[in-house]
Amino acid sequence: MAEDLLHSWDHPAPERAGRPSLFALLPEDFVAMGAPGRAEHIFIQSQHPWVWVEGRPRVSREIREWMAENLDTALPQIVERHASEDGSTKLVLALADGERIEAVHMPRDVRNPRVTLCISSQVGCAMGCTFCATGAMGIRRNLTAGEIVGQVLALLRELGPEKPHQITLVFMGMGEPLHNLEHVHRAIQVFNHQQGLNISTKRITVSTSGLVSGIEKLALLEPRPWLAISLNATTDAARGAVMPVNRVWNLARLRQALDRWPLGPKEKLTIEYVLMAGVNDTPEDAQRLADWMGELRHSHNLNLIRMNEHAASSFREPVEDRLRAFVACLKALGCFVTVRKSRGRDVQAACGQLIREESRQG
Ligand code: SF4
Repeated sequence: MAEDLLHSWDHPAPERAGRPSLFALLPEDFVAMGAPGRAEHIFIQSQHPWVWVEGRPRVSREIREWMAENLDTALPQIVERHASEDGSTKLVLALADGERIEAVHMPRDVRNPRVTLCISSQVGCAMGCTFCATGAMGIRRNLTAGEIVGQVLALLRELGPEKPHQITLVFMGMGEPLHNLEHVHRAIQVFNHQQGLNISTKRITVSTSGLVSGIEKLALLEPRPWLAISLNATTDAARGAVMPVNRVWNLARLRQALDRWPLGPKEKLTIEYVLMAGVNDTPEDAQRLADWMGELRHSHNLNLIRMNEHAASSFREPVEDRLRAFVACLKALGCFVTVRKSRGRDVQAACGQLIREESRQG
């Protein structure tokens, strides 16, 4: 397992017929490739799905022909939609090679047009967290940057929002984004580009299981998204049992990487803690969690999440009294804590529940 965790960079994403994806290119790439017409125009048209005609960017025939010859223009196809009673929608997308990924569209509320899109970075995941349905699948492959951007454009085309400034992106779907950093970061460059969707880095969060090597690489890159850590246990023994990554990079090493993270103005780290009955929900766990959080150098938010139960795991969510006692204990110790509402639980779209449908059946 430790070997897998270290070497999963070797699960390459396919470049179909050696052609780059239209959706992963920046204006300067169109110039370098000798595209006809203005590079900015092609970029703007390809990144704004609201102005497409018949599912394709609105460009001249000359540019269309050039694209057909030089680029991969396939967009992930939405093949299933599962609407939750809480307003969120889980979408299954088919990739060009037949692999499937899942994403979740979460409108803020009826009066607020903002939407959070929870997106995938890999088909499956190598990290093997024992409470997670995606982890039970194992890793199939990385997504290309074009597939990551295409996933978002496909969602926007179908469900909106219609204004780019209303979008928040969280890399909390299938996969460990820092295992696919090259493609994830290229996608962030495209999302953040002023002439594209222009999504501010403070509205893009990359959530990691604690892959310290990836955190340290991401810390050096620009544009740099905000960071969330899935912590879930407070001793190396307990964390190593549910998250194998901890056997490679333990809690002390993780905190060192977080303390070195170059926090931007107004930025906060997000620490997520999935509460599992009888595993990490005792008063002693709360005490250790408060201590660990208290020793972090940077400002942070602590989110508690009830375990989202699914068939691939025997872990259960704590009963309400236990959850309340855990929160009370943290508050008494001076922690500011939020119990996060999981969206889409009824359609298996909540945190840790995303999995290819065939895997769920198989
Ligand atoms: S929790 Fe995240 S990192 Fe862990 S197995 Fe699931 S998808 Fe992978």
